[in-house]
Amino acid sequence: MTAQIISGTEIAKQIREELKQEIAGLKQKHNLVPGLATVLVGEDPASQVYVGQKEKTCQALGMYSERHDLPADTAEAALLSLVDRLNKDPKVHGILVQLPLPKHINETRVLYAIDPKKDVDGFHPVNVGKLMIGEPDYIPCTPHGIWQLLVRSGAQVEGAEVVVVGRSNIVGKPIANILLQKKKGANATVTVCHTGTRDIAFHTRRADILIVAAGRPKAVTADMVKEGVVVIDVGVNRIGKAESGKDILVGDVDFDAVKEKASAITPVPGGVGPMTITMLMLNTVKAAKLAAGLS
Ligand code: NAP
Repeated sequence: MTAQIISGTEIAKQIREELKQEIAGLKQKHNLVPGLATVLVGEDPASQVYVGQKEKTCQALGMYSERHDLPADTAEAALLSLVDRLNKDPKVHGILVQLPLPKHINETRVLYAIDPKKDVDGFHPVNVGKLMIGEPDYIPCTPHGIWQLLVRSGAQVEGAEVVVVGRSNIVGKPIANILLQKKKGANATVTVCHTGTRDIAFHTRRADILIVAAGRPKAVTADMVKEGVVVIDVGVNRIGKAESGKDILVGDVDFDAVKEKASAITPVPGGVGPMTITMLMLNTVKAAKLAAGLS
C-alpha cells in the first residue's frame, strides 16, 4: 500500500479561500475588518520569519494587522503595558505574542494578561478550560489544523483508536482533548504516549490514527505502525543545511518507510505547518465576530 499524501498546503489554501470570502462579507455587510496584533520581543530569526508570515497572511486575506517589534531587553512591565493597550484597542481582535520570550520575561504572566476574548492562540487558561469542557471559543492553532486535516481528508475519526505521541500543552494535550469530545468529527478513543510510556510501540501499533508531536526524528518507524494507519506528523526537526543554505527539515516519522504501510500521511514540510497560521486567521475572524456580536 502506498499512502495518500494529505497536503496541508492544499487544505490550508481551501480554508484561506473560504476565509477571504467571509472577510469580504464582514467588511461589506457589517463594516467589520478583523484585526490581529503581533508582538515580537528580540531578534530570533525563526520568530521573525513566523511573525512575518502571519502579517503577510493577514494582508493577503484582507485583514487589519499591526506588528510590534520590541528590543530583546524590553522590561516585562513594558510588554504587559503594551498587552493592556492592545486589550483595549477595538481595531485589534486578536493578540499574538510570539514565543519563546527572552528569559527575563515571565511567559505565563504575559500570556495570562491577554484578554481571553483576544487570545487567538487559545493558550489562556480560560480558553484551555473551555476546550476541555467542549465549549471552545478558540481552539489552539496547531491542534485545530490537525483536526481539519483529518476531517477534510476524509479520515474516519468517530470511533477510531487515536494514539497521540507527545503531551505538550500546545499540541499533544489539546488534540487529545478535541478528538475525545462527543462531537461530529471527533468521538474517538484516545491514548496519549510520552517519555514515561512503558512500551510506545504497543500503543502505536493499535492506532487507526497516529498523531506524532515528539520533536524527535524517526520517533516512529515502520515496525511501530499497522497497515492502513492514518498518520499526522507534527514534528519539525532541522537536521542540517542543504547546499543552497536552506535548513533540511524532517518530521518525527520515518516518512519513506511508513508511507508504504499507511493509508494516508502528512509530509514535512507541507503537512501541519501551513495549517497553523491559517487557523490563527480563522480564530481572529471568529474573535472579530464575537466582539461584534455576530457569532
Ligand atoms: P515539546 O513541548 O517538546 O513536547 C514533546 C512531547 O513529546 C513531550 O510530551 C515528550 O514527552 C514527548 N516525547 C519526546 N520524545 C518522545 C519519544 N521518543 N517517545 C514518546 N514521547 C516523546 O514539543 P511540542 O511543542 O509539542 O512540539 C512537538 C514537535 O512538533 C516539534 O518538532 C515542534 O517543532 C513541532 N511543532 C510543529 C508545529 C507546526 O505548526 N508544524 C507547531 C507546534 C509544534 P515528556 O512530556 O515525557 O517529555
